[in-house]
Amino acid sequence: MELLKFEEMHLNDEILRAVKDMGFETASPIQSKAIPVVLEGKDIIGQAQTGTGKTASFGIPLLQKVNPELKKLQAIVLCPTRELAIQVADELRKLAKYMHGVKSLPVYGGQDIVSQIRGLKGGTQIVIGTPGRVLDHMRRKTIKLDNISTVVLDEADEMLNMGFREDIETVLSAISDDRQTLLFSATMPKPIMEIAKTYLKKPEVIKVVKKELTVNNIEQKYYVVKNDDKQEAIARLLDVYSPKLSLVFCNTKKQVDELAEELKNRGFFAEGLHGDLKQIQRDRVMGAFRNGSTQILVATDVAARGIDVDDVEAVFNYDVPQDDENYVHRIGRTGRAGRDGRAFTLISGRDIFKLKDIMSYCKTTIERDRIPTRTDVLKIKMDKVIDDMKNTMENDSMDEIITYLSEKLKNEDIVPEKAIASLMKLSIDSISESEEDINYREIKRNTESFDYDRKNRRNDRRDNIGRGHDRQRKGMAKLFINIGKSQNVRPGDILGAITGETSVPGREIGSIDMYDKYTFVEVPVRYVDEIVYSMKKKKIKGKNINIETANGRKHKK
Ligand code: AMP
Repeated sequence: MELLKFEEMHLNDEILRAVKDMGFETASPIQSKAIPVVLEGKDIIGQAQTGTGKTASFGIPLLQKVNPELKKLQAIVLCPTRELAIQVADELRKLAKYMHGVKSLPVYGGQDIVSQIRGLKGGTQIVIGTPGRVLDHMRRKTIKLDNISTVVLDEADEMLNMGFREDIETVLSAISDDRQTLLFSATMPKPIMEIAKTYLKKPEVIKVVKKELTVNNIEQKYYVVKNDDKQEAIARLLDVYSPKLSLVFCNTKKQVDELAEELKNRGFFAEGLHGDLKQIQRDRVMGAFRNGSTQILVATDVAARGIDVDDVEAVFNYDVPQDDENYVHRIGRTGRAGRDGRAFTLISGRDIFKLKDIMSYCKTTIERDRIPTRTDVLKIKMDKVIDDMKNTMENDSMDEIITYLSEKLKNEDIVPEKAIASLMKLSIDSISESEEDINYREIKRNTESFDYDRKNRRNDRRDNIGRGHDRQRKGMAKLFINIGKSQNVRPGDILGAITGETSVPGREIGSIDMYDKYTFVEVPVRYVDEIVYSMKKKKIKGKNINIETANGRKHKK
């Protein structure tokens, strides 16, 4: 498609200057398609992901439309999370840099409502907020809807996933029908289409596919293990996922040699590739990887540069890459040509900081997962043998074998299950004698707990912020922090400190119970290690803090 220049869009000079300052040369595809349509006053459904420039695609026409003279609320942007609300508010502020008299304000749960109310009183024209908090302000009449002419639903699918549907509908129903409504969503499931049908007027559908370094079709996970357990961890992941072809990245040549050797010893078809190999050796290794006789290629970044194999199913980062960009290059080796891919990263010690940088560089969340236990691996291997067995049972005639076997088992008094188990043992490669569970300081988690309704979680959180409660939810753990109300700390400060220092999304943090001298914070069990590790010796509101799991600590009022 043809990309427009911002100068061709009849924007006011203030916006054009700001866009120039921001370094935007041409409009991105979503901007080229959406801005002219929105400027015409039409409703739109924009199917676009983060990273496509979608914020400016609604931000620019929204600012063009705002009347700086009118000191009343004129536009509302609803976002699923506090992080996104802040991000959108930042982008709008940059775009409005030269527009005097235009004020925007992010409002979200967990932040002091009194200071938000103060902000809203100062003639704010644009509010960017999470649905729950916007509704709260509507009910308090601190947000007035009479002059609103534009509503944006940003990441609408994500808002519905978080259980905000009712809140969104309440907000939309309360605003005059004369408004313009812009709905953005990465995916278009039925509930989104229903909302569009009910609340949008003849919307134009605008769709863009994200180009650039896309990692969206790659499932990314990380694992926290001790350095000494990394080889075992890779072996278990390879066993469980059994990718047809995989690439394992190490940061040093020595590491490549050692790991390739170890994997070969364990019976994997693995080879190492690095700059010290002669060209002829490299050609041999690459040839074997291309034709599939080598399934696992262990390599350094430099050596892997020329690899152009399309069907790599998984990339493993045995070491976290030194450079954010390298991470994208590494994992971009999988998920090619429209296929799905997987990327696994092992983390030990301080690597978590590097991983956090990578996440913000790639604008993605990499979920933590657990390395399977020895028993998990064994079960998976057995299941594979059973599948092969079933296949043989269906397709091959075995009458002759069965006749002989039943006779033999009977005569020798052998129990059939035991016979099958022995055959199974013979056909499974031995699995190592290492520890059952090698996850670093892992706290046993109850997997059921992740199934509970996200809406409940949100409501629970809304109810619990700032209030004491003793209920411990499944999958959540309590942390103790040695600061509290008497140090003038608010729940929002704690929330901000945790989300700022760690990869934990704000929405996953549970109740924050503040007492005079200390605070209990409820967080998902899987983040406990990371939070305790990252927050130790940090400061909140200038005060040194100590943070630890709250096991055994009693609330004393
Ligand atoms: P978004 O998809 O809105 O999260 O935007 C992703 C990033 O691209 C942000 O850092 C924007 O500032 C930037 N961006 C947006 N539009 C453009 C553009 N036309 N040219 C260059 N960068 C842009």
